[in-house]
Order: sequence, then structure tokens, then C-alpha cells
Amino acid sequence: MNIVERLKAYAKTYREPPTGREVEGTVELLEEAAEHIEMLGGKEERDIVFRRCICDYGTQPQVDMMIEEMSELTKALLKWRRAKGAELTAARDCIVDELAGVRIMARQMEILFQAEDEVERRIDFKVQRQSKRLEEWEAKNGRN
Ligand SMILES: [Mg+2]
Repeated sequence: MNIVERLKAYAKTYREPPTGREVEGTVELLEEAAEHIEMLGGKEERDIVFRRCICDYGTQPQVDMMIEEMSELTKALLKWRRAKGAELTAARDCIVDELAGVRIMARQMEILFQAEDEVERRIDFKVQRQSKRLEEWEAKNGRN
């Protein structure tokens, strides 16, 4: 169960008589909820910075930066494929750095194109579609 489901289950249990009874895992749930809320606050702070980037630098340079970051990630992935032995660690570090760059710019693109909710819905749709494809594939080929 994720945190939202657990919070709803807790609320449901708490609402049923006798009210006010202890629910197992309450402390852990509240701590996790607090962490989750802190994380959301962190996202808002990031978005403030991202909006400033778009306003200060402009739309076109940020779109160019998105393209540049995607290209850098592509290069990092190709370099990792060629890496051997000790080079693998550095290549992986480079991928981590470029993934961060791509995610930062992808978030700016969501803000810039005012597409945050639409992107979330598309992700939900694509994940569900992929889940069905996986079920079909696994039914045919077996699960690894
Ligand atoms: Mg980069």
C-alpha cells in the first residue's frame, strides 16, 4: 500500500466506532506522511527556481537547453556502452549527472508548455497500456 492508500485506510479505521482507538503503524504512517509533505515542499521550491529560469533566460534558450541535455545524456549512454572495467564507474556517474540535467529541463518544459496535468495523464495512460502489454507478453513468453 502506498502512503495515500494507507492514510485513507487509517482514516477509515479511525472513523469507525469505537472512535479514537489506536491503529497499528500510526506513528510510522505519520512520519512517512510528514516526509512526503516535506518532499512536496521541496518540489515547489524547485519549481520556483525553474520558473525563474524560464522568465530570466527566456523560452527559446530553455528549449535549446532541453535539447542539449538530451544530447548529453545520449552521449553519456553511448560512452557507458563502450566503457570497460574501471571506466564503468565514471561512465555511470556521468549518466547520473545527465539524467539529472534531463529531468530538470523536462520539468521546465512541463511548466513552459503548461502541460503538467496533461503529462501526468499521458504517463498514467502509457504506464497502464504498458502494463497490459507486459501481461500479454508474459502470458505468451513466461515471466523472467
Ligand atoms: Mg548536462
